[in-house]
Amino acid sequence: MAKGNINVSVENIFPLIKKFLYSDHEIFLRELISNATDATLKLKHLTSIGEATVEYGNPKIEIKIDKEGKKLHIIDQGLGMTGEEVEKYINQIAFSGAEEFLDKYKDSGKDSGIIGHFGLGFYSAFMVAEKVDIITKSFKDEPAVIWTCDGSPEFTLEPHDKTDRGTEIVLHIAEDSTEFLAEARINELLSKYNKFMPIPIKFGTKEVNDPDHTPATIKDAEGKETKEPQKKITVDNIINNPNPAWTKQPADLKDEDYKSFYRELYPTQFEEPLFHIHLNVDYPFNLTGILYFPKMTNDLNMQKDKIQLYQNQVYVTDNVEGIVPEFLTMLRGVIDSPDIPLNVSRSYLQADGAVKKISTYITRKVADKLKSLFNENREDFEAKWNDIKIVIEYGMLSEDKFFEKADAFALYPTVDGKYYTYDELFNKVKANQTDKDGKLVLLYASNHDAQHSYIEAATAKGYEVLLLDSPIISHLMQKLESTKENITFTRVDSDHVDNLIKKDETKISKLSEEQQKELEDILKEVIPAEKFSVQLESMDSTATPFMITQPEFMRRMKEMQQTGGGG
Ligand code: ADP
Ligand code: MG
Repeated sequence: MAKGNINVSVENIFPLIKKFLYSDHEIFLRELISNATDATLKLKHLTSIGEATVEYGNPKIEIKIDKEGKKLHIIDQGLGMTGEEVEKYINQIAFSGAEEFLDKYKDSGKDSGIIGHFGLGFYSAFMVAEKVDIITKSFKDEPAVIWTCDGSPEFTLEPHDKTDRGTEIVLHIAEDSTEFLAEARINELLSKYNKFMPIPIKFGTKEVNDPDHTPATIKDAEGKETKEPQKKITVDNIINNPNPAWTKQPADLKDEDYKSFYRELYPTQFEEPLFHIHLNVDYPFNLTGILYFPKMTNDLNMQKDKIQLYQNQVYVTDNVEGIVPEFLTMLRGVIDSPDIPLNVSRSYLQADGAVKKISTYITRKVADKLKSLFNENREDFEAKWNDIKIVIEYGMLSEDKFFEKADAFALYPTVDGKYYTYDELFNKVKANQTDKDGKLVLLYASNHDAQHSYIEAATAKGYEVLLLDSPIISHLMQKLESTKENITFTRVDSDHVDNLIKKDETKISKLSEEQQKELEDILKEVIPAEKFSVQLESMDSTATPFMITQPEFMRRMKEMQQTGGGG
C-alpha cells in the first residue's frame, strides 16, 4: 500500500473549492462524465491506430445511485489508469491545476460569472463528496488500483481486484449534498449537460416493447377477437443521443431531421421552427451548430428556450451573449465550438478576437440564408415576414454589416397586403408621393383599425400606405431616413399628410364658414392644440367631415422613449 502527500502548498484546498464554486456545485457530474468520455475516446483512438490491442467494443458510461451507502458511481470502460498514471494525472497535474486556478482567481472569486463555467475537472467531485475513490484498471496489462482521498491533501493508493478495463469513480456524498442521491435530480443534470455527449450514458433500466414480439390476435370464449398483450423487455436506459444532428453533414440531413432535432432540443415547444441554418466551419476557428428561426411575436420578453452553447457535445450554457450578436439571441438552436474561451468574463469575451470572428461569421450566415430564402421563394418569405421581421429589423438597427445585406430582402408591407423591398417601394412611389420640398414621403399606418379613416383618405388619393407595427419600427425609420437619400416616413394621421396634397388641389370644406368656426371652437376646447391639429377640409371621396392629426415628430419621440434608445 502506498501512502503519500499530495504536493500542494495550501493546507486544505477543498474548502476553498467549495466556496468558490458554490453557485455551480452541480457541474461536478458534467466534469466526471466528460473525463469518462475522454477516457473512452482516447481508447478508441489508441485501438484505431493499433497502439492498444484490446477490443474496443461498444463502451458506455454508467451512472449509479446507491442511496443506502450514500454513494454515486460514475463507471466507464475507457482506457483506465495504472498506479503510476494515477500518481501523475490525479495527484500532480490536477492538483497543480487546481492550485493555479485558485491563485489566479482568488480575488475575483465573488464574481461567479467568471468561475461559473470554469471546469475544475476531477477535483470538482469534492464540491459534493466528503470522500472520493478512483478504482481503475488500465487497458495495459497491469493490476488495478484504488485511490482514496477524503479532501485533505493526503491520499492512499492500493491494489484492487477490479478485472474489467476502465475507471469507476465513487463519490461518498457529503451531508450537505444529498440532493445528488435523488434520481430526479441526477436525471435533471443528465438531461441538461449530457444529452448529446458522444458516448452512450446509462442511468438505470427501462421497460420497452419487445421488438421481436408481434402480439397475435386471439379469440376469447365468446369468439371476440382481442390482441395478445405486448411482451416487455428490460433494456438500458440511455439518456443521451450520441449523434446529434449538428455533428452530421448537412447533405445527410433532411428537413424532417432538422425538425425532429428541434423537438429533441426543446421538448416543450409545440410550434415548428420556420427554418434552420446549419453552421459548419473549421477555419480560422472550429464551430458547428444549427440555428432555428422560431415564430416571433412582438413580445420581446417571450424568450424562454434559448440558443445552447456546447463544447465537444458537452453543454456549457444558454447564455450566448457576446458570442452571438444580440439580435440573434432571439433565435434557438445549438452552437458547438471548442474555440470559445469559457473561463473568462463576458466583457473579455466581447473583446476577444476569435469570438468576434465567430459572431461575424454567424451574422453573415444568417444574412445569407435569409437572402437565399428570399430569392428562392419570395411568396413563402413574404408569408413568414411577420414572424421574422423583428429579428431582421433589430439586426438592421444594430449591425451595419447586416443592414447592408438585409436592405435587399427586408420587406415593407402595405395596408392592402403587398410586400415591397425598399427599392421597389421607392420606385413605386417616387412619382406620386413627394412633399413640396421634393422629399419622398413614405406613408405608413401602425394600426389598421384605429387609423382606418386616415388610411382610406390616403389610399383614395392613390397613395401607398405601409403597415408598420413592430415595436422598434420608429428606430428603424430613423435609421432609414438618415441612410437613404431624401426620404421621410410619415404616419397617415400626422399633419404632414397635408404636404402630399398636390398644389392644384383646393381644399373645400363641406361646412359653411359659420359651421366651421363653431366646430373649431368646440374642438379646440377638447383637444390640446400643442399636441394635435384639426383639419376641416372635405376629404374628397370620404365622408369624414374633419380630421385630427398629431405631428409625426411628437409621436415618434414618445414612442422612442418607450422602446428605449437602441439604434
Ligand atoms: P482534464 O480533464 O482537464 O485533464 P481533470 O482534472 O478532469 O483535468 O482530470 C485530470 C486527469 O486525470 C485527466 O487528464 C486524465 O488523465 C485523468 N482522468 C480523470 N478521469 C479519468 C478517467 N475516468 N479515466 C482515465 N483517466 C482519467
Ligand atoms: Mg476533465
